[in-house]
Amino acid sequence: MVSAEKGNVAGPVLPPPATLGVIGGGQLGRMFVQAAQRMGYRTVVLSPTDDAPGAQAAHATVVAPPDHLPGIRAFVEQADAVTVEFENVSAPALRWAARRRPVRPGWRTVWVSQNRLREKGFLARHGFPLAPWRPVRTRDELTAAAQALGTPFILKTAASGYDGKGQVRVDDARNAEEAWSALGRVACVAEGWVTFASEVSVVAARGADGSAVTYPVGLNRHERHILDSTVMPAPVGPAVSQEAQTLALNVAQALGTVGVLTVEFFLTAEGALLVNELAPRPHNSGHLTIEAAVTSQYEQQVRALCGLPLGSTGLVSPAAMVNLLGDVWARGEPDWKAALGNDPGVKLHLYGKQTPKPGRKMGHLTVLDPDPETALARALAARRALTAR
Ligand code: ADP
Ligand code: MG
Repeated sequence: MVSAEKGNVAGPVLPPPATLGVIGGGQLGRMFVQAAQRMGYRTVVLSPTDDAPGAQAAHATVVAPPDHLPGIRAFVEQADAVTVEFENVSAPALRWAARRRPVRPGWRTVWVSQNRLREKGFLARHGFPLAPWRPVRTRDELTAAAQALGTPFILKTAASGYDGKGQVRVDDARNAEEAWSALGRVACVAEGWVTFASEVSVVAARGADGSAVTYPVGLNRHERHILDSTVMPAPVGPAVSQEAQTLALNVAQALGTVGVLTVEFFLTAEGALLVNELAPRPHNSGHLTIEAAVTSQYEQQVRALCGLPLGSTGLVSPAAMVNLLGDVWARGEPDWKAALGNDPGVKLHLYGKQTPKPGRKMGHLTVLDPDPETALARALAARRALTAR
């Protein structure tokens, strides 16, 4: 059996109605809170505003940024156990919290996955398959990276990027300097351009006793570097599916993660899997597990946090999810009646965000169907109906 995260050896079960704390007020925190409440837990979120999606749903909110020490102190005071809904949380603060409460995933998993340089270094050291990459912290490293990778390559800021933010594609090595300047000449990872056949992801969960499970592989389509749709199970065949799940379990084990961990992959035309990036938490591609799996990724996060046995990751049905970005509101209120009325199987999730902006994740639609392709077609049709007027 593999050892669990330090300080997180299989301990006593934390039963309801204990108070579970989540750092971050976004939609992932909101769905964690909803799962926790269904199981009888009380919830508190640490959120920069009291109207954030997670804060709206939780029993209590401590309003503070995630790296604000007095805020974290007040939050930990109210929580019996702590988890995160995003990775940009101060690792020292998590370590401080871990001396007082169970913190899952632990600071090390979060610390590795919040910085692309650390993440790539970790994955490379453990022999996980990666696209060619180079660190870029100096001008010389940039030149060396451009030479080694050829063009096109992609520069990604090491810290705090998401939904394609903090990334520039370099098509001509002569523009590398300019691209790096556009990113503020901060520490970056340079990555060879991957002409992938598709993108897939695996959500894994690992308990404090080292037990681990994965969900079926999700097939992800991105638009403008933002996830647009997920189909589960991904039509990738049993060999790729098995390999992706094994890789995800191995990453979670190598990190010693206790909690939920998602691995994003590129799948090449030759059928090779390359690890793209990690998320130490539930993932947008796992939203559909709320309706489609016996145990949702959020319930799994609750179970791992509380030392409960992990639940079945079996699918009730194949399913598809499409994101609803702020763009859907561009011409006014979406036509909810049409989208839900045309197909009574469509499930609507909105995160309670007040201001729709282009590219901002406002909600999603999930459809279950025995045929995953049909599930996607139905979800896409429902989304089109939102703006068809
Ligand atoms: P994030 O999701 O944090 O914004 P990613 O590294 O996952 O960052 O990049 C977002 C998307 O951009 C990927 O899902 C993929 O579609 C595209 N992308 C990222 N890196 C590459 C690459 N090296 N080659 C081709 N496409 C890429
Ligand atoms: Mg990504």
